[in-house]
Amino acid sequence: MRVMKHRNFRVIVWPRNPSDFGIASVGNLAGPRSEAEERRICEKIARKINRHLSFSEDDRGDVRVVSDAAPECSNCNSKWTEKSETYNGGCCAEDEKANPNPDTEPDGPGRVA
Ligand SMILES: [Zn+2]
Repeated sequence: MRVMKHRNFRVIVWPRNPSDFGIASVGNLAGPRSEAEERRICEKIARKINRHLSFSEDDRGDVRVVSDAAPECSNCNSKWTEKSETYNGGCCAEDEKANPNPDTEPDGPGRVA
């Protein structure tokens, strides 16, 4: 099954002056965090930045939480390469169970053509 995965969560601060900008990022030093945890941390950072910025409303730019999204297999996290919403070309055994034409594709090991 295809699932949309979000990666590279970060907080980007767009200041009012385009020549004067700053970026706050969330690192990944202690191993991977869940998608929900990364989003929560970024939203917390954004709230803190916004709280500080609220003291100088005239200089406030725009604080947003953004992420990169790409479809992946929900079972093995392989990149989703197929147009189908349910079958990713047999990226793993679980995905292969969703093969709409299991007798014709793909030719797996041990299969006689
Ligand atoms: Zn898979």
